[in-house]
Amino acid sequence: MEGIQKLKGYEKIIEPIRLTSNSRFIFQCYPGVPCFKLCCSDLHLPLTPYDIIRIRDFLKLSTDEFMLLYTEPFILPKSGLPIARLKMRDDEERTCPFLGEGGCTIYEVRPLACRYYPLGFGLFRNRDEKRNEEFYYLVKEGFCQGLESGSEMTVEEYRKSQGIPGLEEPIFEWAEIIMKKESLGPIEVPEKSLELFFMVSTNPERFRAFIFETKFLDIFEVDPNLLEEIKKDDLKLLQFGFKWLKTVLFGEKLITKKKDAPSVKRAKPF
Ligand code: SF4
Ligand code: SF4
Repeated sequence: MEGIQKLKGYEKIIEPIRLTSNSRFIFQCYPGVPCFKLCCSDLHLPLTPYDIIRIRDFLKLSTDEFMLLYTEPFILPKSGLPIARLKMRDDEERTCPFLGEGGCTIYEVRPLACRYYPLGFGLFRNRDEKRNEEFYYLVKEGFCQGLESGSEMTVEEYRKSQGIPGLEEPIFEWAEIIMKKESLGPIEVPEKSLELFFMVSTNPERFRAFIFETKFLDIFEVDPNLLEEIKKDDLKLLQFGFKWLKTVLFGEKLITKKKDAPSVKRAKPF
């Protein structure tokens, strides 16, 4: 193990090659590989809104408890938007709080970023075709023994083997918000707007209370059936939250404001 630990010093190389779903690469990871668990320390591991819901439920915690015990705020470098990331343990290796003797203790609900590794993921706006496109890239870390030894597969085959598509679909609009903010460049963002983004991105319970226990429903038109669904369904609440964020942050008219809405101090659009 000591010999392997030294491998941690190896350089991290992000291959400057844009991969598509059909690009092929070689990779294999399994318990018993000499570097097993080395990739689970010293990470800046972002959590998507859906990661938070799934891990929180798996651990049978409230969102506040999960956020307090396992996360810390993190500012996404390009967009400047605040999200949550996993708080590493306070040990020498800065290991992930969910790393156990036998590997990941939350494997069934491990975050999206863990499932992607050793791939990275990005979105860009194809202006000619007026649509968003995904791209991928390979992150090569010297200690990872799985990069040279496995079988060849496409990016899409790998994504499916990790259960990624089903976890990305519910947060696609969230990724679009981040990408849109990135494309605006380093503009100053009102504090209130950042707070709203962080609330929707990290805490469904607080967002639900924000809808039902403030003047929210005096201001915004929400279909009564949808309202019933978002009372109890966190994923439906997230979908609504992303549309609402696009409405208040970018001025997209996805959620209608009531004609007789009382005047309140609003978040300024970006
Ligand atoms: S959540 Fe699991 S897979 Fe991800 S870094 Fe932690 S231990 Fe590793
Ligand atoms: S092969 Fe790579 S991904 Fe798998 S345990 Fe080793 S370092 Fe981690």
